Order: sequence, then structure tokens, then C-alpha cells
Amino acid sequence: MNRLYIGSLIGAAVLAGCAVAGDSIPTLVSPTAATEAANVPREVISLSISLFLLVDDKEDPDLEISTHRTEKDLREVLEGMNDIWRQAGIRLVPESIGTVVVPEAILRGMLAGDLDSFFRRIGVDIALPQPSAINGFYIRRLGGPNGMNPSRSSTFFVIDEPSVFDRRVSSHEVGHILGLRHVSGDPRRLLFSGTNGMTLTENEATVARYFAQGMIQGGR
Ligand SMILES: [Zn+2]
Repeated sequence: MNRLYIGSLIGAAVLAGCAVAGDSIPTLVSPTAATEAANVPREVISLSISLFLLVDDKEDPDLEISTHRTEKDLREVLEGMNDIWRQAGIRLVPESIGTVVVPEAILRGMLAGDLDSFFRRIGVDIALPQPSAINGFYIRRLGGPNGMNPSRSSTFFVIDEPSVFDRRVSSHEVGHILGLRHVSGDPRRLLFSGTNGMTLTENEATVARYFAQGMIQGGR
């Protein structure tokens, strides 16, 4: 495990308790006549992404606490995410798609919304490959929200049965990773909370692309 990675994930865990995105409160008022990103041609930026199923450490995973999703499901979600992020000219390229085994007690805590223990145990008794630019974890439940992006981390979590489309929750969380905040006023927008909106504005595409370039130049 790369030390830098552990450090950044722990930093993320510490922050996870504060202004984290439980995905409920819009914080920005959006302009009403924003240009839609899809109407602007631009060069494609590719970002690496890894997606993981979170399961417990029993010989036969307990389906009460382990995700019911499969690797095939994750590939389908990723295809849908790329349909959405194409608006901004951002392509998510799969690096690892697999299963991460989490000690039962830690996983139970996560189901209740405690992600800190998970981050602290990475490299101790939770094995993960080298991180990609973006890292998504698919979990049975999260204690309420459809998805979360622990503050200032490149990670997101999505539950098994969200109230909106799988690809939409995942793409919304990626939006937070790429520097976008919630919007209000237009439920068709990807960054509006709790709807199936998938639209990105030109301004959002510009910000997301700037963040994506930063990730690439930062060597992730
Ligand atoms: Zn959100």
C-alpha cells in the first residue's frame, strides 16, 4: 500500500464527518438559462476509475450486510456513467473492477454511516489495489443517503438500492470529486439532489475538466 494513498484516505476519513455530502442540501443557486455542456464540442479527457464491491469476510458473504451487486453490474453502471459524463468530454476508463473484503464489524459500522473505520483499516486488514483517479465502492446500505463522497477524497460510495438510477448516483458523486457542488432550482441537473437529473451546464463541464486535468497532472 502506497503511504501517500493511506495518508490521503485518512485525511478524507477525518473530514468525512463534517460537511460531507449526504446528498440532501443544495448549496448553490443555479442560473436559470445556463448553457448545456452537451452542446459544446471539446477534446475528451480520460480519467482512470476503479469500482469495488464491498463484502464481509465470512466464507459465504452475509447478504444482509454484503452488496448484492456483481462485477457485471459495476461494468453496466460504468457504461451509464460514461453516457452522462460524455456531456463534459470526460471519459472514465476502468482500471480495477473487483471485490474488497471488509471485516464484518467494520462493514456493519459502514452500513450505519461510519466510513472512518474503513479508511483507517486500509492497508491493515483491508486490502486495496493502488488507487485510480476515482475510486467507487458499492455497499449494501449507508445509513440513509443514496451515495456519499467523503470530503475532499477521490472516493465515493453507492448503496445497493438507491432511490434514483444507479448511473445517476454514481455520476453525481463523481461530480463532487470533480469539484462540483449541489445546485437548486432545476431537478434536471446532475448536481441537484435526489432526482434523476443528468444535465451538466457548460460551467460545470469547465470546472470538472479543470479538476480532471489536475488529477492527471498530479499523477493519479
Ligand atoms: Zn451530492
